[in-house]
Amino acid sequence: MRRSKLFNQTRASLALSYAGVMGVILSLLGFGVYEAIAHAHWMTLDRELESVAGTLHDSLELKLKQPGNLEPIVYELLPNLCLVETNCVRAETNRGRHVLSAIKQDNYYIRLFDTSGHLIAIAGTYPEGLSEDFDDKLWQTLSDRQGNVYHQISLDLHTQDKQPWGYFQVGRSLKDFENYLNRVKYTLVLGLPISMILVGGASWWLAGLAMQPIYKSYKQIEQFTADAAHELRTPLAASLATVESALLLSEINDREARDVLTTIERQHRRLTQLVADLLLLARMDRQPTPLHHQCCLNDLVSDLVEELAALAIAAKLMLALEIRTKIPLQVLGDEDQLYRLVTNLIVNAIQSTPANGKVTVILEQSDRHAVIEIRDTGIGIAASEQQRIFDRFYRVEGDRSRTSGGSGLGLAIAMAIARTHHGNLTVQSELGKGSTFIIQLPLAFASKPKVKYRQYSGETTTKMK
Ligand code: ADP
Repeated sequence: MRRSKLFNQTRASLALSYAGVMGVILSLLGFGVYEAIAHAHWMTLDRELESVAGTLHDSLELKLKQPGNLEPIVYELLPNLCLVETNCVRAETNRGRHVLSAIKQDNYYIRLFDTSGHLIAIAGTYPEGLSEDFDDKLWQTLSDRQGNVYHQISLDLHTQDKQPWGYFQVGRSLKDFENYLNRVKYTLVLGLPISMILVGGASWWLAGLAMQPIYKSYKQIEQFTADAAHELRTPLAASLATVESALLLSEINDREARDVLTTIERQHRRLTQLVADLLLLARMDRQPTPLHHQCCLNDLVSDLVEELAALAIAAKLMLALEIRTKIPLQVLGDEDQLYRLVTNLIVNAIQSTPANGKVTVILEQSDRHAVIEIRDTGIGIAASEQQRIFDRFYRVEGDRSRTSGGSGLGLAIAMAIARTHHGNLTVQSELGKGSTFIIQLPLAFASKPKVKYRQYSGETTTKMK
């Protein structure tokens, strides 16, 4: 279906954009995490080397007497120390033995150079193939012939009497460090596609969730358009049918012509009313009603009950007004709209109440609100219908308004007017017993009711015929 295709396409593109953005964010985050871990490890490594080198350096300097000469005590400090000329570097016995038992690592090495930078002795796990040239840079990272990388620190060595003895280097292989970083890298690299699959799924779900209200309002607009077209078509078709049947007559007398015109006029009035209602709803949707004018609800309900008295009389029922407040209740808003709101409810009540019934309009104050109740003893509304009756074009099944010319917009307009006036419209009803529609509107100035109990200050009653 085209509609769901559009919905799915939009959902997919939303999900893709979201997943793309999340992918970039996650990649950057992964890269940042990797860099932070690498940096933290590097710092720890430097500190470790620095501390080992510092400790050894201080211990050695205390023992050294002659420049370039290794005192026997140095062999005690570094038990596997080996002079370069003895070619002990490759001796198997030296492998695996580590001098720095204090740090429990077997990947450290120590190198001692004389003042002219010649390698004199080595200790620890000596990296074979590492250049023996001395470089006096404090920190160095170098690789051997096999491509193994080492990190080392070089320090000056002095004799006990502060003469330069030579140089001293402590270094370590970066193999375990690199292995660790590789593991982190692989975890992040493998984790990214897995996270992307999860993000993709979550994006699809979230995009669906975000599309729900749009889809709902899209469906509502679609339904509204179909309903509006249907409602417009009915009077148009009726007018057309009337004109066509009149044209089929060979002759038409005055009376028949008048009948045709009356039918067309009635259908046109219905059409005009429908279009006016649609425009009113569209206007209220588009822009808020300016709430500048004060409107006295006492006058409004009195006028309306008077105006609709004839309708009630025609329907053979009683229309009563109870104003239960002594002070005029003022609200801010559009007087025409407020008239429309109350009219719709009273007319509905009259139309839904069988002969001999009663419709009562009550005006009272409740806290900071004016309350208008329209009660009827009519047919009532089933609980399942009570929310839906406020939907545009919704009519209760078997309702008389189809025959009475209602379009199902009356309550939708009433609700829109109440809401635009920062008020509310609710219904209480029992099938077969009657309904009460309650309008609540905020008062222009919240005046306290003068009397605490309910006052019946006026009643206009239209007696049934
Ligand atoms: P319409 O403009 O066709 O009257 P409304 O939006 O005013 O439509 O009303 C929606 C539905 O609610 C109608 O089917 C109507 O029968 C029902 N309804 C409204 N007021 C009452 C009432 N007081 N008692 C029973 N049914 C009512």
